[in-house]
Amino acid sequence: MSELREPADRPVRLLGFWGTPENQTLPNPADLVDPGWGEAERQWVADYLEHGQIAGSWMGASRCRLCSRANGSRDLTDGYYLWPEGLAHYVLDHGVRLPAEFLNHIEQRSQALEGLERDASWWRRNAART
Ligand SMILES: [Zn+2]
Repeated sequence: MSELREPADRPVRLLGFWGTPENQTLPNPADLVDPGWGEAERQWVADYLEHGQIAGSWMGASRCRLCSRANGSRDLTDGYYLWPEGLAHYVLDHGVRLPAEFLNHIEQRSQALEGLERDASWWRRNAART
């Protein structure tokens, strides 16, 4: 699992937050558009991004920097990365490419989940104990 440590051992990495006129230390999504990025991979990444857990909610929706549509008001996380819920829109509808290290992370997480050893004994013992 590359260099990733368990959640809580390290800060969560921010992903997909953009610079503002007042603070240009973060990227501009227009600089990351990759018109050649295939739809199947963009859909796969967007699906992952849309299924994060809610890590925070904000008053009012943010606007897409590229088309101005209302684009979510929550932050989502997988415990390793944290992103605004509208990031899936940037990926899917604008081809804003995310770093290869993050795509590798998605692949590793998906494989790890599919490969989990399954144990039904706890469920059998505890289902009726409410
Ligand atoms: Zn947009």
